[in-house]
Amino acid sequence: MNANPATTIDPPRDCPSCPRLAVAREKLRIDQPGWWNAPVPGWGDPQGWLLIVGLAPGLQGGNRTGRPFTGDFAGNLLFETLGKSGLVTGTYTGKADDGLAANGVFITNAVACVPPENKPLPTEIAACRPFLAARIAAMPNLRAVVALGITAHQSAVKALGGKLPKHPFAHGARHAMRSGPVIFDSYHCSRYNVNTGRVTGIALEQIFSAALDLRP
Ligand code: URA
Repeated sequence: MNANPATTIDPPRDCPSCPRLAVAREKLRIDQPGWWNAPVPGWGDPQGWLLIVGLAPGLQGGNRTGRPFTGDFAGNLLFETLGKSGLVTGTYTGKADDGLAANGVFITNAVACVPPENKPLPTEIAACRPFLAARIAAMPNLRAVVALGITAHQSAVKALGGKLPKHPFAHGARHAMRSGPVIFDSYHCSRYNVNTGRVTGIALEQIFSAALDLRP
């Protein structure tokens, strides 16, 4: 899929594309007026060579703080891992104003709004894909995508015009696309995956270390 030139890179605050998510968002705005409660824009270095794609903002993570992976369990491991390779510098505190700086990396999600129970519907993933495609198209130096989990993987493959049967998700897999960046697959660094041992800090570091071979 190519980015539609009419698509802004990030969805607008009152994005109407997904009725179910818009209803949930309106309720959250009433229940938690101090939270972000809107599509969470991507964050990082737009001139970067590496794009990280997650699933969707966590209720009390990005949906609360306004920055992807910020303030939730998954962010602790992700930002720690990025810090080790210098892709982010500064001290991650779980708040969007912690002053963290991104060096060559940009972080976004397959779905920009928090979905009930962390489970976006296929229609919602498809509706948000033009924004992912727009982000990819807006990164002139992009060389690598790290896809955290199967939803991120599938959306990235489709956004890059690839076919899923040719590019099945597998932790540790590397997918050379016909044109554009290489996709590196990882299990998602969710609380469940970390607590069950499916993904560890070392495993995540190995994925990023493979991607770092493409660092200019
Ligand atoms: N937070 C995000 O922003 N994305 C995820 O996929 C998980 C947590």
